[in-house]
Amino acid sequence: MFPYCYHTHTARCGHASGTDEEYVLAAISAGIKRFGFSDHIFYPGLSSPTMRGEYSELEGYVTSINALKVKYARQIEIHLGFESEYYPEFDGYYKHLQEDHIVEYLILGQHFLLEGHHIKYYFGDSRTPEIIQEYGRALIVGMKTGLFRYVAHPDLYMANYPFGFDETAKQIAHDICRTAKELGMPLEINLGAIRFRGLFTLLGETRYAYPYEPFWEIAASYDIPVYVGIDAHHPQELCGDEYQVALEIIKKYKLRHLKTLKF
Ligand SMILES: [Zn+2]
Ligand SMILES: [Zn+2]
Repeated sequence: MFPYCYHTHTARCGHASGTDEEYVLAAISAGIKRFGFSDHIFYPGLSSPTMRGEYSELEGYVTSINALKVKYARQIEIHLGFESEYYPEFDGYYKHLQEDHIVEYLILGQHFLLEGHHIKYYFGDSRTPEIIQEYGRALIVGMKTGLFRYVAHPDLYMANYPFGFDETAKQIAHDICRTAKELGMPLEINLGAIRFRGLFTLLGETRYAYPYEPFWEIAASYDIPVYVGIDAHHPQELCGDEYQVALEIIKKYKLRHLKTLKF
């Protein structure tokens, strides 16, 4: 049983399934007490079907989750947020969403590099040192804005990086963790890739795409507090036991485990 989750998607993103209410019911049956929806953010004027919902779905998302919040108030604490990249051109939008209390929180998941209104590449498929450096830079810019409560899967850049934890990859881990330390910003151990890809062997290393353990060893050396994110894309995923992998990493590296976001 795992007591909280602030990283949950909905069918609106186009690569998740189940109704909003089914997620809530699954969370209740899994014993989750504090539960946050953080679907992939919808951007005004930026359409990316199968990646995120359309901006026109914002009102429906807000209305639906807020209704569930009331309906299940006696069984579970529900919060409304988004998982979002930081793109400077949407700075005012991120502020508006939070300052006008449309959503309660944002978590930073820097999935893509944007060029104009086009996605240039997915950082989970980074194949060169230059691209992971770009990830580190973009992520750190986002972290410093103060718009986000924690960083989702900071180790995303290692998912398909073909050179293992080389000097560039280590340097990026240090840069991210040093910044997190300076800002007092937690990082998230994300369970998504444990489910969709599982263990594999690359360069003689048996590992998950993420969490990538050598990254977390560095995070521990900076004494960074962590959350665990289930990153559910189907209600049943809230009931899995992949969190055991995260708890083992937390125990092994003596990471500080935060279990409650304050609202
Ligand atoms: Zn993500
Ligand atoms: Zn996610």
